[in-house]
Amino acid sequence: MTREFRLPRHAWVSIAARTARHMVFAVVISVAVSYLLLETFSQGIGEIGLIAAIVAPLVLGGPMVFYMSMRQFELQMAYDRLEQAAARDSLTNCFHHGAFVEAVTASLGDAANGGGALLMIDADHFKSINDRFGHASGDTALKLIVSAIRSSMDRPNIIGRVGGEEFGVFLPGASVEHAAHIAETIRRAVLAIQFDTGGQVCTLSVSIGGAVVKEPVQFGDLFRLADERLYKVKAGGRNNIDIVAMPIKTAAPDRPAATAHDLVYRGQKIKQSA
Ligand code: GH3
Ligand code: MG
Ligand code: MG
Repeated sequence: MTREFRLPRHAWVSIAARTARHMVFAVVISVAVSYLLLETFSQGIGEIGLIAAIVAPLVLGGPMVFYMSMRQFELQMAYDRLEQAAARDSLTNCFHHGAFVEAVTASLGDAANGGGALLMIDADHFKSINDRFGHASGDTALKLIVSAIRSSMDRPNIIGRVGGEEFGVFLPGASVEHAAHIAETIRRAVLAIQFDTGGQVCTLSVSIGGAVVKEPVQFGDLFRLADERLYKVKAGGRNNIDIVAMPIKTAAPDRPAATAHDLVYRGQKIKQSA
């Protein structure tokens, strides 16, 4: 069988350590059993008996344990790769919808993150790109858009392809200002793409809606708010961003502003709306 994986150095160290542990255990057991048997039924273990009790498990068991450990590591690597491939979209290498929701839900549930920002990014008039230049060019455009999204990140993030030409980005712990800054950076990066469709450069753009939360919430609630803002950007002409803070549920009575949305337009807080 041809080897598909090159095990990393740390795996070989673990395999050697595991083999050594098993061998020490096997030698101790072998010496103890040989001693008991030979002392009871013969004239004692003697020098030759002791050497045999040590060498036999090493020669017989050593290669076997080493080989089995190696195979186990290879299987683990194969499993990890399969799991990774199953979680990712093959065109863009982003998380697919289910894996994205799972990863964001886990991040939202981690109190250490203190919430975060969900950006919903939808390519504008993408159908016309396919219609004019063909589906293959559309695929290329999607990959360029994802590259622009990735290059706009400056902190840990989770990127998913939640629909055909729609992407989700989660920024753990991000504030409204930071989320708006990242959204605007993405918008500009996509606009700056030189998408060459065989001599003709085509402009690409995205619309971005976002919701920011400081406390644990359901993914669905955050998504609904971000999607609502995305819809507003689309209705308002596209190629724009709209990021809001999610209303805080447990507001103190003397803080009426807690139910308001902070509206941010191109990085600037412009107004508050209920
Ligand atoms: P809007 O600005 O309102 O979002 O318009 P739109 O044309 O982008 O939206 P619409 O939902 O009408 O069309 C989405 C298009 O995205 C249609 C579909 O063929 C295309 N699309 C979805 N997934 C893929 C893909 O994997 N590859 C390519 N090439 N096109 C895709
Ligand atoms: Mg679209
Ligand atoms: Mg869409």
